[in-house]
Amino acid sequence: MRLADNVYALLDLAHPIGVNAGFVVTDEGVVIIDTGWTHSSALTILGFIETAAPGKPIKWVILTEHHSDHIFGASVFKARGAQIIAHRLAKEFLESKGKDYVEEMIKSRNKLWQEMATMPQGYDFGRTFFQKVELVLPDRTIDETTDLHVGGEELRLIPTPGHLLDCISVYLPRTKILFAGDTIYSGYPPTTRFGDASQWREWIKSLEGLKELEIEVIVPGHGLLCDKSEIEQNIRYLAKLLEEEGNEDERVIENRE
Ligand SMILES: [Zn+2]
Repeated sequence: MRLADNVYALLDLAHPIGVNAGFVVTDEGVVIIDTGWTHSSALTILGFIETAAPGKPIKWVILTEHHSDHIFGASVFKARGAQIIAHRLAKEFLESKGKDYVEEMIKSRNKLWQEMATMPQGYDFGRTFFQKVELVLPDRTIDETTDLHVGGEELRLIPTPGHLLDCISVYLPRTKILFAGDTIYSGYPPTTRFGDASQWREWIKSLEGLKELEIEVIVPGHGLLCDKSEIEQNIRYLAKLLEEEGNEDERVIENRE
């Protein structure tokens, strides 16, 4: 879907709750934000790019975090000459995991699908689902807010730790569009199981920071397009979680006494 003259979002790519991606067309070439979960999702993104910007080179891929649903399509664009940019911690994660990450995902998905009885025992659908996925490392990393200037467009990469410590959000100052990655979930509760209470506090700080931006529309990591009110919703959810967590700590202390 076209959000501005040169900015596109692809919503609900293959994933249990759908994962989003997008791209920005500049005079010099295309910048992609997230790459989908599978090789075929990346080919879908590529198809939209070739339609919207025929003949334009793909200059950059921005990965908003290290999780598979955002990065597993990256090799499709790397093979077409794109440079990949991500948070320094995302690169560290991928370097330490290496190829095991894809194999782990294949195994864990097979296990889950078998438990859910959506796949017969012994059938390796994970390998079909993630076929051709190749892990690629970022060519460039950031660990503070960084402006990427490409073909007259400015893309502001803002570290927004919370869901993961290596999350980044991408803000386009000219069109006031925010690609928030999994820093913002729209219509779903945010996925908090990858961090503890101190990380959730960081997350609220990240969201408070994003609230300062002038925003027309937000492309979340998962869910439908939204506006700033969704930032408030996410903050409220995390604050409530922290409150419950705090109460639990108190209960533990009470029990001990
Ligand atoms: Zn995600």
